Amino acid sequence: MKKDIQPEYKEATVICACGNTFKTGSVKDELKVEVCSECHPFFTGKQKFTDHGGRIEKFNKKYQRNK
Ligand SMILES: [Zn+2]
Repeated sequence: MKKDIQPEYKEATVICACGNTFKTGSVKDELKVEVCSECHPFFTGKQKFTDHGGRIEKFNKKYQRNK
């Protein structure tokens, strides 16, 4: 691999609030983030509203009543 990158742009350690650390390219030595790909709901798929069963049921009941 060639190393003809800009001198200010170096490898930084990203530290997430969940405890996960990973490397990325940055002008800083260290970065702190609150969410990363390991704990972000978008990546983990742990968002609750997808299996929040009652909402759809309620909507259907309301819709039928207004009909
Ligand atoms: Zn994280």
